[in-house]
Amino acid sequence: MSVELLLEKARMGDPLTVADAETLLGATDADDRMAIYAAADALKRKLWGDRVTYVVNLNLNFTNICELHCTFCAFRRTGQERDAYTHAIDDVVTKVGHYAQSYGISEVTIQGGINPNLPVSYYFDLMRELKRAYPDIHLHAYSPQEIAHIQDVSGRSLASIFEELKAAGHGSLCGTAAELLVEPVRSRICPEKISAARWVEIVSAAHRAGTRSTSTMMFGHLETLADRAGHLDVLRNLQRDTGGFTEFIPLPFIAPVAPLGRATDRQGPDDDAVLLMIAVSRLFFGDLIEHIQLGWVKRGIAMAARSLHCGADDIGGTLLEEEISNSAGSAFGAYTAVADLAETVRREGFVPVQRTTLYSVQVKRDQESGIGDQSPTF
Ligand code: SF4
Repeated sequence: MSVELLLEKARMGDPLTVADAETLLGATDADDRMAIYAAADALKRKLWGDRVTYVVNLNLNFTNICELHCTFCAFRRTGQERDAYTHAIDDVVTKVGHYAQSYGISEVTIQGGINPNLPVSYYFDLMRELKRAYPDIHLHAYSPQEIAHIQDVSGRSLASIFEELKAAGHGSLCGTAAELLVEPVRSRICPEKISAARWVEIVSAAHRAGTRSTSTMMFGHLETLADRAGHLDVLRNLQRDTGGFTEFIPLPFIAPVAPLGRATDRQGPDDDAVLLMIAVSRLFFGDLIEHIQLGWVKRGIAMAARSLHCGADDIGGTLLEEEISNSAGSAFGAYTAVADLAETVRREGFVPVQRTTLYSVQVKRDQESGIGDQSPTF
C-alpha cells in the first residue's frame, strides 16, 4: 500500500498493521516523510492540542557494577575500576534531599546495574527510606531486568514483589531493558538479558498489580525495519491487554563509546530515522499509548524540539545526574533547566505544561503563556 493510502487508513482510525508500520518506517521520499510527520502531528494535536509536557526529575543510578555484558552499554563496571560505585541507602536519601530542596523535583528515576553483591533487601529498603523522607516525590524505579534479578535471587512471585514494592513506596516501573523485543536481534545485542517473553511477563504482572510503567525501544543498531515494527507490535499488544503503559520513549542507539559501536560501523539512527520512529509510533499506537517522548538527552534539545512537530507530546525531564547516555558518548549533557525546556516548547509554538510521572498536570497556570484554563488532568 502507498504511504498516502496508509496515512489515510491511520486518519480513519483503522489500526496499522506491522507491515504498514514497516513501510512507513522505511519511507525514503522526502515528501512521503513530510506527509508522515504531518499526519502524526495532526493526531497528536487532536489528542493534546498545543500542550507539550515535561517533568522535573532526577535520574539516579545507585550502582554501576553489573554482571551482565550488554553490547550497547558503556555504563557497566566490573567492580574493580576506580570509578565503580554502589551508593549506601543513606547517601541516596541525602542526595535526593539536595535535589528536592534545590530543584523541586517531583520524580526520581532509579535504576542500577545488576550487582550480585547487593542483597535483595536493598531494593525494598531504598524505596522505604526514600518514601519516608520524601513522601511527595514519585519513585519511578527499577527495570524489568532488575525485577527479574529480585525474583531469581528471592524465588518470590512477581505479584508479591510488586505488592511489597508498592507498600514500600514504589510508584511506577521503568520500561527500560526492553531494548529490542524481537529475536534474533535481542540475543545478539544483549544475550544475557531476560528474554522478550519474560520482559512482557514482568511488565504485565506490574500492570496487573496496579503499577504502571513507561515503554521504550532502543533502535539504530543491528535491527531491521521489520524488527522495529515488530517491537512496536509487542508493546501495542501488551497495552491492549493491560492498558498500563503511560508513554512510549524511543531511545536512539548511542554509538561512540559503547562496545557495539566500537566493534562495528553502527553509528545509531540518523535524524530522519529518529523522527520517523516518533511519527510512526504515534500513528501505530493511536490513542492506545497516549504519550510519545523523545528525551533530549539522547539527541539534544534541537532534535527534541523537531520531534514536537512529528507526533511527540512530551519533551522529557530535567534529568539531573543522567549517566547512562553520557557514558555511551552522548554529547548533550546531563541536565536541562526547566526554564530552558519550557522556552524550547514555547519557541516551537506549543504551551509548556509541567506534569507528574503519571501524566496529571502539576502546574495549572503558566504565567508567560497564559495557560490556566486547561482541564486539570489529561
Ligand atoms: S545495560 Fe544494564 S544490564 Fe546491560 S550491562 Fe549495562 S548496566 Fe548491565
